[in-house]
Amino acid sequence: IKCIGILTSGGDAPGMNAAIRAVTRTAIYNGFTVKGILRGYRGLVTNEIVDFHSSSVSNIIQLGGTILKTARCEEFKSVEGRQQAYENLKAAGIDALVVIGGDGSLSGANIFAQEHDIPIVGLPGTIDNDLGGTDATIGYDTALNTIMEAVDKLRDTASSHERLFFVEVMGHTAGYLALNGAIATGSEAAIIPEMDTEVDQLAELISQGFRKSKNSAIVIVAENPRTGGAMGLAERVKKEFPQYDARVTILGHIQRGGSPSAQDRILASRMGAMAIQAIMEGQRNVMIGIQNNELVYVPFSRAVRHNKSINRDYVNLVKILSM
Ligand code: ADP
Repeated sequence: IKCIGILTSGGDAPGMNAAIRAVTRTAIYNGFTVKGILRGYRGLVTNEIVDFHSSSVSNIIQLGGTILKTARCEEFKSVEGRQQAYENLKAAGIDALVVIGGDGSLSGANIFAQEHDIPIVGLPGTIDNDLGGTDATIGYDTALNTIMEAVDKLRDTASSHERLFFVEVMGHTAGYLALNGAIATGSEAAIIPEMDTEVDQLAELISQGFRKSKNSAIVIVAENPRTGGAMGLAERVKKEFPQYDARVTILGHIQRGGSPSAQDRILASRMGAMAIQAIMEGQRNVMIGIQNNELVYVPFSRAVRHNKSINRDYVNLVKILSM
């Protein structure tokens, strides 16, 4: 292997740039050449590939987003699209690939690697923390901090007006942001996708009379297309519990932005360097994960479409601490 290609795909996440920098510089340090592929798999299909040097990644560790740009690409979901991508890779002389992205991007990498002879190493880049085999993903800590700062501000107005606030955060398949966001902000409850088939979380919340001894309540809600998320809950409250003055704040894409936290920069730097080590060791079709602060190789098949279980102790903690 002489030349390593790198791309970012799917939803952007703070720390992707720190990962790009670490991959690029570790590769160059070890004698590889590096090429950057623009706009994720789309750039692979449309052949947007540029030479990368050490200076290509100067002064980016502190930046949110991704200098390589990211995109979603329908063509890559077809056999023909992936064939085109492979031909472009070969023509560019790229003989190993580092993919930074979330569940969809790594699913795509998994399929691509089964069809074509190219070693691929993945890095978990998503604020949702919804990949298997890793305790954390690049961008998750920064997003959690963004949520924390926003909810702290909402608390000021919630308590001044004695209101019930539903704050919607991202994570329609994983409640990590909602649950840990609730713990970090002392919120009254978290409503998460992992639990919404078991109990009616809203009814439980109201029946516990959470507002009796309090002058405000904040409930963090994971977005949920099926139930309508925070909006859906507020509508239900209006109908079933009109005594509450329910308000909704949807944090939306601000959760994806911002300068990465120290933790995300360090995680991205460690994982990026490890991706090159993995390629040198002959690993292929693995994602770099972190478990108990040790970097590990996680086969793509175990990383994607994985329902990481939520820690029940955390759910109980929110209940106990908000009484
Ligand atoms: P994320 O990586 O953030 O989860 P997406 O789910 O949008 O983002 O996936 C990003 C891209 O990965 C898609 O636009 C597509 O090009 C590719 N991809 C996702 N799933 C598959 C799949 N099953 N087969 C091939 N490519 C896929």
